[in-house]
Order: sequence, then structure tokens, then C-alpha cells
Amino acid sequence: AGKRWAGHPGPAQVQATGALDSARIRTRFPPEPNGYLHIGHAKSICLNFGLARDYGGICHLRFDDTNPEKEEQEYVDAIIDAVKWLGFDWTVDGKEHLYYASSYFEDMYAFAEALIEAGHAYVDEQSPEEMRAMRGTLTEPGQNSPYRDRPAADSVRLLREMRAGKHPDGSMALRARIDMASPNINMRDPVLYRIRHAAHHRTGTQWCIYPMYAFAHPIEDALEGITHSICTLEFEDQRPFYDWTLNRLQELGKFSLPLPHQYEFARLNISYIVTSKRKLLQLVKEGHVNGWDDPRMPTLAGLRRRGYTAAALRLFCERTGVSKSNSRIDYSLLDQALREDQDPLAPRSVAILDPLKLVITNFPEGHAEICHAPRNPHDPNAGQREFPLTREVWIEREDFAEVPPKKYFRLFPGNSVRLKYGYVVTCTGCVKDAAGNIIEVHAEYNPETKSGTPGSDAVKVKGNVTWISCASAVPAEIRLYDRLFSEPFPDAGDREFLDYLNPLSVQTVQAWLEPGTSLEPGIVSQFERLGYFVIDTKDSTPERPVFNRVTTLKDTWAS
Ligand code: ATP
Ligand code: MG
Ligand code: MG
Repeated sequence: AGKRWAGHPGPAQVQATGALDSARIRTRFPPEPNGYLHIGHAKSICLNFGLARDYGGICHLRFDDTNPEKEEQEYVDAIIDAVKWLGFDWTVDGKEHLYYASSYFEDMYAFAEALIEAGHAYVDEQSPEEMRAMRGTLTEPGQNSPYRDRPAADSVRLLREMRAGKHPDGSMALRARIDMASPNINMRDPVLYRIRHAAHHRTGTQWCIYPMYAFAHPIEDALEGITHSICTLEFEDQRPFYDWTLNRLQELGKFSLPLPHQYEFARLNISYIVTSKRKLLQLVKEGHVNGWDDPRMPTLAGLRRRGYTAAALRLFCERTGVSKSNSRIDYSLLDQALREDQDPLAPRSVAILDPLKLVITNFPEGHAEICHAPRNPHDPNAGQREFPLTREVWIEREDFAEVPPKKYFRLFPGNSVRLKYGYVVTCTGCVKDAAGNIIEVHAEYNPETKSGTPGSDAVKVKGNVTWISCASAVPAEIRLYDRLFSEPFPDAGDREFLDYLNPLSVQTVQAWLEPGTSLEPGIVSQFERLGYFVIDTKDSTPERPVFNRVTTLKDTWAS
């Protein structure tokens, strides 16, 4: 396998030799449109489109829509949207490489008849249960069907009747005629076509027989001239049948050489999420989350809404590598990729999530002192942001303690801290309501200590506290997310994954934002000390901004 891979010309060679289009590598990303794409699919997209890009080839986006029941146009649209958003394009030299397996139903059918005529397939009238019983086990060979040696003409006639709708679901099937004693169970006369009286999202009721995935896939690849058909490891045992199908059809003159080759790589498994479309569908249908794009979902739509950028996902996919052995990746690597992507870019801002009022008692009433802070400390060209300091400001409740615990450097009576980008203040006490709750903190400021003025650092303090002027703070709802599951691998073994849903996977707070905080969808802001945040594209309004926290500044999850 490695040899063929290495033998393909890289971009430099392609350019130097002006190699023909047919010498280009061709890959495909073949989702079934039966759900939304998830982070595991991102891995496959990055791999397939990435190889095509790196080797001057072409990657097809192909909808593997051979299974009528679960497929829908909604999913087709969402998949197109997600692949584009991830940053990949299937238009090469002006030609759009977007395909549907259902476009090949007529070819697949013709190939099936050709296989029957060549003695390679037969119509079996056993029930699905009988076929299963006759298939044998890992240690026992299977037994031939009584219909296995029927004349080809009978099988052709029956297949035509199947196509014409003369037979009910499950009454018969077309099978390959290979070897019921093969040590590989996939080679024991696998089913090629089954009867399904069901409407298809593209072909309607034109067909009532549908090809099996294992038969359809190699044909799709060959018809499109795919060179590298990359799939996940579970399909390794299917490779002999993939090759069998292509070789028989090539012998019958249906395909020319070279034929596509299947390569397998390990599926991406990430802790604290599930990546099976069936389980994701269940989360949506049973209302455990608010739709496919819920910011806690590992779908690309959910991750995007949560604020993970396409560049961060690509970085994550690249980092986690391509492997032949199954492994588990820690979710924190995804957050790390987001931080690496956004730390150099994200505009900074202040937010107060759990507000407590601080009154600077010696600060003139009605006065606003303009303070400055870098928009991004890594990027001097990003310039400065400005915001006013006034007599009353919001601080985080946790930044005041009436009785300080050990090593507490923030506000407590008698202690001095710097209001970040402003002045040094000294705490003079607090005000409580009748129930004893602290409702205000009092402090006095030192007018000689304004940040950025000469001598401002003469007074040394250990604590730095973020704040926002009450007069200009912008109200916002902020959604703080935790893991959707409380177990790293909720669906390992025979576990019921729903038992491990984290009941506290989202917490909503009413917060204050620094005036001028970006409210632009898609812009990830770093709120100082708190993490990375983005406008929620569904629920936010100009009057009432809603933010999602993508992730904190540091990894706070124990793993
Ligand atoms: P699911 O099990 O979630 O239904 P699937 O493999 O059946 O996934 P497809 O729509 O057939 O879903 O997937 C399209 C492509 O994405 C396939 O080539 C598949 O190998 C790849 N893929 C799916 N899940 C993963 C994953 N976790 N890691 C890597 N590749 C994946
Ligand atoms: Mg699949
Ligand atoms: Mg599946």
C-alpha cells in the first residue's frame, strides 16, 4: 500500500512534467447525508482535501446516498455548508467536483446484471434470517444457498422483477458468488442489492432496489477515477471485497486500469463527546440538547456556533495525526488549538460575570477618566482601546473578601490593588444588606498612580483587578459551557451513554461588558482572565447580546 502512495507525483513533479490530469491523485470525502458532520468527519475532510491540496490533486465531495430511509436534503445542505466553512473547496480549474452516489444507480444496476451473466452473482430467495444462519461463524465455514447455482438467466429475470417492484422487501436479494468457506466473512457471498420500497431524497420512487454500501462504494470510486479511497479501520476487512468488485468489473471491460485502492486509517475518538451520528441524532430528537448546532454538540455546526474557528479545527486535525491504530484524543487538545489560533488575533476586552459594585469614595462624582489598554498585546499594530473610569465600577464578586484567605492579594479591607489600566485603590470596607449579603465595596484611589503615567508604578501592589464603569457597561447574557458528558468515554463498551450526561453542561449568567466589545458574529474576543468568547449567532440581538464561552484561558478540566 505504501509503495503506491509514495509513487504518486507530488506538486513539484506535477508541475515539472506537466503531468496529465489522469496522473493526479484523486481522493474523495463521501458522507452519507443522514446527519450533520461532526469533528470526526473534520478529520477525514482535512485528510482527503489536504492530500489533494498538498499533491496537486483533486478531492471530490460525494454524497454516499444509497440508503433511502435516513437521508434528507437538509443534511446535504448542512454538509456542503460545513465543508466550505472548514475552508475546503471541490471546484478545481473551474470544474465542480460534487457528486452523488445516487447518480450512478443505473450504472450499478447494469454492472449487477453483467456480474450475473459472468457467473459472479445470483438472486437468492432465502430470507435474511436464513442467509444469516447459513453464513457460518469465525470458526465455521458457511453453507451454500440452494439458489447459488441457479442459471444466470433466472437470476437476471428475477433481478428485473425485483427492480420492477414485483417482490416485497426481504423476499429475495442479489448476492455475489464468491466463497462461502472464506475465512473472511465479508467474502461469503455478500449481498449486492436488496429490495426496499422506500422513497429516496433524490431519485424519489424510481427505484425499489438499492445497492449495498460495500458494492456501491468501489463502483463510485472507480467511476470517478479516485486513486486513494481513504476510509476508517473498520473497513479493512472489506478491502478484499472492494478489490473483488473492481477486478471482476475490470475483467468485464467496465473499468480500465489503474483501479482505485482503499487505504484505512484510525477513527478519531475524543474524550467527553460521542461521534456517532446515531447517538447525536438521539441527543437532538430526545431534546437533551437544543438542536444539531447546540454549542455543546461536537458537530461542525455546534463547534462553529460555540466559537471554535475553522483554523483551530484544522490545526487540531493536523496535530492529532493520521494513524493505523485506534487511540483516544483528549478534548483539551481542541481547546489548546483554539487558544493557539486566537491568542495572536483575538481582540481583548473586559467582562464581569458575577458583578459586585465598587465605589471609589474619593473619586469626583460625574467625572470620567479615560483609560487605555492594548487591543492585542501581541500585535502593536492593533492599537489601543479606551474606556472610562468612573466613581462606581463593576468588579468580580470573587475579587473581594471581607476576611481574606491565605495568599489572597485582591481586595480586602486595608489592602491595595491596581484597577487594571487605571489607578491603585485601597479598600476601606464594604456595605451589606439586611440579610448580610455584601452589596458594595468601598475604596479610595491614589491620583498619582494612573497606569501609563510617569511614576505610576512607584506604589507596588500584588493584585490586579478587572473592572468596568457602571455608567458605560454593556449588559450581556453569557453562556458558560462544561463538558456534555461527565465521563471521558460515555459510550465505551456496552455503556448507555445517556446515563453520563452532565446535568450542568451549560450555565447562563447576566454579565457586564466593556463598552466597545466586538459584537460582530464570528469574531472571537478574549475577555481578560476569563477566556475566549463569541457572539451566539442564533440568540443574540443588538439590544441583548448573547455570548458563548468557547473555552477558558487555561485548561481547567482534569483529564
Ligand atoms: P457515523 O459513525 O458517525 O455515522 P460514518 O462513518 O457512518 O459516521 P459517513 O457519513 O459515512 O459517516 O462518513 C463520511 C466519512 O467520514 C467516511 O469516509 C468516514 O470514514 C469518515 N469518518 C466518520 N467518522 C470519523 C471519525 N470519527 N474519524 C475519522 N473519520 C471519520
Ligand atoms: Mg458511513
Ligand atoms: Mg454510520
